[in-house]
Amino acid sequence: MNDVEQAARLLADSRWSIALTGAGISVDSGIPDFRSPGGLWDRFDPFEYAHIDAFLSHPEKVWTMLREMHDVIHSAKPNAGHYALAELEQMEIIKAVITQNIDSLHQLAGSQEVIEFHGNSRKLVCLACGAKYNAEKMTELMREKGIWPPVCEKDNRVLKPDVVFFGEPIPYEASVQAQKQARECDVILVVGTSAMVFPASGIPMLARQTGATVVEINKTATALTDSVAHLSLHGSSTEILPQVVARVRELRGGGDGRA
Ligand SMILES: [Zn+2]
Repeated sequence: MNDVEQAARLLADSRWSIALTGAGISVDSGIPDFRSPGGLWDRFDPFEYAHIDAFLSHPEKVWTMLREMHDVIHSAKPNAGHYALAELEQMEIIKAVITQNIDSLHQLAGSQEVIEFHGNSRKLVCLACGAKYNAEKMTELMREKGIWPPVCEKDNRVLKPDVVFFGEPIPYEASVQAQKQARECDVILVVGTSAMVFPASGIPMLARQTGATVVEINKTATALTDSVAHLSLHGSSTEILPQVVARVRELRGGGDGRA
């Protein structure tokens, strides 16, 4: 049995699957991994541009980086990997996607249950009054008015993307929900992430310890490959996930008429 077949059978037989995703799944949507050479953190020192203290003391400077980040993310569209995960949710196989990405591409592909560890770049938040704004509309409005960076309409404070900056805590609710999903699942797909960074790092192991089968889909081998993963499929998730889902569809095809 090949790896795609094996992964498809695990999913087709699963009672409760989840996915944990990272930068790798969005690369084919035109969003380079911020950590990769030429990526955002190669050109903007994260401690100068993405640390909460930097934002609080020099928001205008940090917004030069954010403007570039927004342009990249807001022109991106979901790819076949995002759509495949959304389809698995429609088939009631996947119950939740836990993501380290801030690009909303899972939601745009149709995934409903998305747990975001690092927030969402499509919203802006006012740190003074808590007001939230649609990022695209707000930045457009502010550019028209000649106001930059964007400010809160109520108190004129500089707005911050609703993403987790370095030095900020992971949203508590996301952490709790992700752990709950990891304990509940019987299959976890780990897609496009080496899951080295907290809190994602604990999720595959927690799932395995509570009885789940860990299936990794990644371009290259990771630290999970020879330790936590039961099955590793190496290649592009944009190619592999649709193949797996096509086979799941066949296996599940015809309702009760399962082969
Ligand atoms: Zn405000």
